[in-house]
Amino acid sequence: MESEADIFYRELPKVELHAHLNGSVSFQTIDKLLRRKPHLNIEHSMTAIDRGQRRTLDECFQVFKVIHQLVESEEDILMVATDVIKEFAADGVKYLELRSTPREEKNTGLTKNRYVETVLKSIQQCKEEEVDIDVRFLVSIDRRNGPQVAMETVKLAEDFMLSSDGLVVGLDLSGDPMVGHGRDLIPALQRAKNCGLKMSLHLSEVPSQLEESDLLLNLPPDRIGHGTFLHPEVGGSASLVDKVVKNNIPLELCLTSNLKGQTVPCYSKHHFKYWYQLGHPSVICTDDKGVFSTDLSQEYQLAASTFGLSREAVWKLSQQAIDYSFAPDAMKQQLRQKWVDLQPQVFK
Ligand code: 5GP
Repeated sequence: MESEADIFYRELPKVELHAHLNGSVSFQTIDKLLRRKPHLNIEHSMTAIDRGQRRTLDECFQVFKVIHQLVESEEDILMVATDVIKEFAADGVKYLELRSTPREEKNTGLTKNRYVETVLKSIQQCKEEEVDIDVRFLVSIDRRNGPQVAMETVKLAEDFMLSSDGLVVGLDLSGDPMVGHGRDLIPALQRAKNCGLKMSLHLSEVPSQLEESDLLLNLPPDRIGHGTFLHPEVGGSASLVDKVVKNNIPLELCLTSNLKGQTVPCYSKHHFKYWYQLGHPSVICTDDKGVFSTDLSQEYQLAASTFGLSREAVWKLSQQAIDYSFAPDAMKQQLRQKWVDLQPQVFK
C-alpha cells in the first residue's frame, strides 16, 4: 500500500530531463518483448539491476546490449516508446525529454531515419490520446562509434529539428565513457551548436577525464549529464567547477543510477550534495528507470530523505527543472501554470 509520502511524491508534478529510451523499458514491457522473441533466450535478470544489487559501469553497458537485441524493429520501438511515455505520465511527469541513439538493424531493415521517425510517431500518438505529458526528443551520439558517425548523427538531428514540428530539440552525448576521447567529437558538437541544436553532454562520469571535460566545457554545453567527478573533493578541479558555474550549466543528477553503476560509494556521498549546497541548477533524473528499477518519484523521495529536503524544497526543485528544459518558452509558461494549478492538491 502507498504511504502518505509515496502519494506526495507521485502527485508532485515532475520534469524528466535525462531518460535514455532503451534504459527506461519497464519490467512489463520487457515481458512483452520476451514473449515476442523466445528464441533469444533472454531472461529478466539480464535486462535490469534489482534493488540492492550493484554492477560495474562496464556490466551496465552489457545490459543495454541485451535490451538492444530485444528492440530491433519499428514495431518494437513504437511499443517501447509508447509504454515508456505512458509510464512517465503515470508517475506524475508532466514534461519529458527522451533521448535515444538511432540504430540500424540489418535483420529487420530498420534505418536510423525510421528509428527516429518511429519514436516521434509514438510521441504524436500519445499527444492524440491526450496522455497528460509533453514530450520532446534528443538524438543521442554514442561516443563508441567515433567522429564520423557523430557527424552523421548531428546531420540527422539537424534534419529532424527542421522537419519534426519542434519535437526534436537537441542532442545528447552518451555511451561508454571509457571508450574514445571527447576531443575527436568537437567538430560534430560544434556543428550541432552552430545549427541551433540544444546540447546535453555526459561529462566526468568516471574519474580522470579532466582534460576531456575541460575541452567539452569550452563549447559550452547547455546541460551536463552526471558530472560525477567534476568537483575537487572527488579528484575534479576548481577550474572545472568555475566553468560550470560561470556558464550556469544545469546538471542532470541520477542517484540510483550512479549508486548501482558504482560511480558513487553511497547515496549520502552523491554529488547532488555538493552542487545543491552551492545553489547551482541541479535536476533530479532517472537515467534508465528500467535498467535501474526506479522511477522519478522514488528518485525525488530518495534525494529528500538522504539530504533532508523539506517538501517545499522538493517542490522548488521540480518547479525549477522547467527552466532548465529545452522546451520552447510558450511551453515553459504553460508548465509553470500547471505547477501553480496543482500546488493546492499536492500540499492538501
Ligand atoms: P538508447 O540510446 O539505446 O535508447 O539507450 C541506451 C544507451 O544510452 C546506451 O547504449 C548508452 O549508449 C546510453 N546510456 C544509458 N545510460 C547511460 C549512462 O549512465 N551513461 C552513459 N554514458 N551512457 C548511457
